[in-house]
Formats: sequence, structure tokens, C-alpha cells
Amino acid sequence: MIKTRITEFFGIERPIVQGGLMWIARSELASAVGNAGGIGFMTALTFPDPEDFRAEIKKCRELTDKPFGVNLTFLPTMRPPDYPAYIQVCVDEGVQFIETAGRNPEPYMEQIKSAGIKVVHKCTSVRHAVKAEKVGCDAVSIDGFEAAGHPGEDDVTTMILVPLTRDAISLPIIASGGLGDGRGLVGALGLGADGINMGTRFVATREAPVHPNVKQALVDHNERDTRLIMRTLRNTERVMHNPVVDEVLAIESRGNTQIADIAPFVSGLVGKEMLEQGQMDKGILAAGQTMGFVRDIPTCRELLDRIMTDAEQIIREKFTQVVSS
Ligand code: NAD
Repeated sequence: MIKTRITEFFGIERPIVQGGLMWIARSELASAVGNAGGIGFMTALTFPDPEDFRAEIKKCRELTDKPFGVNLTFLPTMRPPDYPAYIQVCVDEGVQFIETAGRNPEPYMEQIKSAGIKVVHKCTSVRHAVKAEKVGCDAVSIDGFEAAGHPGEDDVTTMILVPLTRDAISLPIIASGGLGDGRGLVGALGLGADGINMGTRFVATREAPVHPNVKQALVDHNERDTRLIMRTLRNTERVMHNPVVDEVLAIESRGNTQIADIAPFVSGLVGKEMLEQGQMDKGILAAGQTMGFVRDIPTCRELLDRIMTDAEQIIREKFTQVVSS
């Protein structure tokens, strides 16, 4: 048993968080992670209508009596969402935790905090973690450059970000990016984190609601099979390499890229179809360098059991070595 400030913070048994994953982080996955002793976050924007999102929260409650949270991402989007409406649903439905991401959550803090909801802000730099603490966030998830999706524009890895964030703030910290096994958990704790966030690793689980081809693709690809798109828009996204990604990069290389030039390729709606139908060359799939050690498709319970067993064994063995030397 590894108890940390993060297990205390969420009221969970294991310091493992399944963060927001557009289209994927729904009730099936979040409840499975919760039932396995971690905590899952459902991604609000997956539900274009806030009332559908409300129904999903209710569904998650039927699937688990364990805690879960909601991810709310404030990145640029082609279909600007009504964020206060999503927050109001969280308030009405008694959601305990919101993971904000993509931009400073300050404009929404009063609406969230006055309802007693705790905010975990996911960010990609030390300065943004400091700001999150200043504006009243309750915990920080710090996302290194290895991560899938939007790892920021600073290109600083988890190995550097976590200890520097630990030095800079006093809030509980979740390390994110490049984490997917027990070794990563122990490493992250050593660097000063209180828990880990995993994304890509959770997509390759039995409960993730995506086509089997998507899960198998994560197993088949390795740590060198990601590419960074949308750098030219300063909205970098780390994705699995495929022909669509090459096409996007070719367009970007011509210079003066506008979102409209690449929208048909990067649109979330196209990505959603790919996740559902399993045609892996249809759109883009956010994926992290952790693909290097995604080698199977376990249940969330099997995955979390394995991570904890491995982490506890590493701690026992290293500790013994230190004591006996
Ligand atoms: P979308 O179809 O609106 O956009 C697709 C991609 O283009 C996204 O990466 C988006 O950030 C980017 N984009 C859109 N308009 C842009 C602009 N004007 N300038 C620069 N980049 C632009 O996105 P979607 O798939 O429907 O997702 C909705 C939102 O959720 C997006 O902002 C997306 O980045 C974000 N997201 C969230 C998660 C999560 O885990 N919560 C994961 C991935 C993406």
C-alpha cells in the first residue's frame, strides 16, 4: 500500500489518475479506474450537449461508488463550448473534482470553488503551476514533453518539470507524461510527485471505449512513433505517426499555416470516427512516448494491480540494498 498526499486528496487507495482523454474518458473507463483503486476523469467536451454530459455523470455513479472527476479543457477549439454550462452540470451533480487544462482556469474558479469542488490544474510549465497555486487550485498535474496530446511549447520533460515544480509550489503534485508502469510511479514519487497521471496507457485497456484496432496500434507502435503537429500554431499536439500526420506536417512546412488548412485532418470529429471504426489512417490519435512500453491490453484492475506490485517490489528491493550497504 502506497499512501501519499494524492491518495488522501482524492480519498482513493492508489496514487494513479486517469486524466482527460477526448472522446475516450467516459463513464466506462473512469468507473473502471475508480473500481481498481485509482481515480478516473471524464472529459466534459466529449459530450457536445451539457445535458448528455449530465447523463454520463449519472451513468458513472451507477457503475461505481468510488470517486471520479471531470476534465475541462480550455484549448482552442473549432466548436467553442459553453464552459459555465458544463461547470453548472458538475455543480448540480455533486462532482467533487474538476481537472482544468489548456489555459489559466481563473475565470471559472469562483463558479467552481463556491460549489466546494476541488480543482486540479493540469499544466506544462513551472510558471503555470505557480500561477495555479496562486489562483486557488487545490492540486497540480504537471505534464512533461513525453506526454500525448498537448504538451505545451517549452519542450521540458517530466524528469525536469516534476522536481522543479516540487521546489516551486506546496500543493500536491501529479506527474504526467511518460508514465505507464510501476517503475514510472516510483520514479515520479522520487522526483517529488505525490501520484501519477496516465493517458495513453489507459487507452490500451479492456474497458477503454474505443475500437480494438486503436488499442492494438498502441501496442504495435514504439516510443519513436510519435510526431508533433500544430507547432506552427503554437498548439503543439503529440500524436501517433501515420500518413495523415505526414500530410499535416507537409502543409505546416509550407509556412503561414492557418487552422483551416489542416482542419479536415486534425478535426476531433474525424478522430472520433477513427476511434469508433478503427481505421487508423483516417485521422489523428493523441499518443505519448509511453507507447514504447505499452505491450498488452489488460483490464484496469490488472493494470493497477501490476503497477502497484511492481512499485512496491522496487521500493522493497532498493530499500533493502540501501539498508544492507
Ligand atoms: P477540435 O476538432 O475543435 O480541434 C482539433 C484540434 O485543433 C485540437 O487540438 C484543437 O486544440 C486544435 N484547434 C482548433 N481550433 C484551433 C485554433 N483556432 N488554433 C489552434 N488550434 C486549434 O477539437 P476536439 O477534438 O473536438 O477537442 C475539443 C477540445 O478539447 C480541443 O480544444 C482539444 O484540443 C481539447 N482536447 C482535450 C483533451 C482532453 O483530454 N481533455 C484531449 C485532446 C484535446
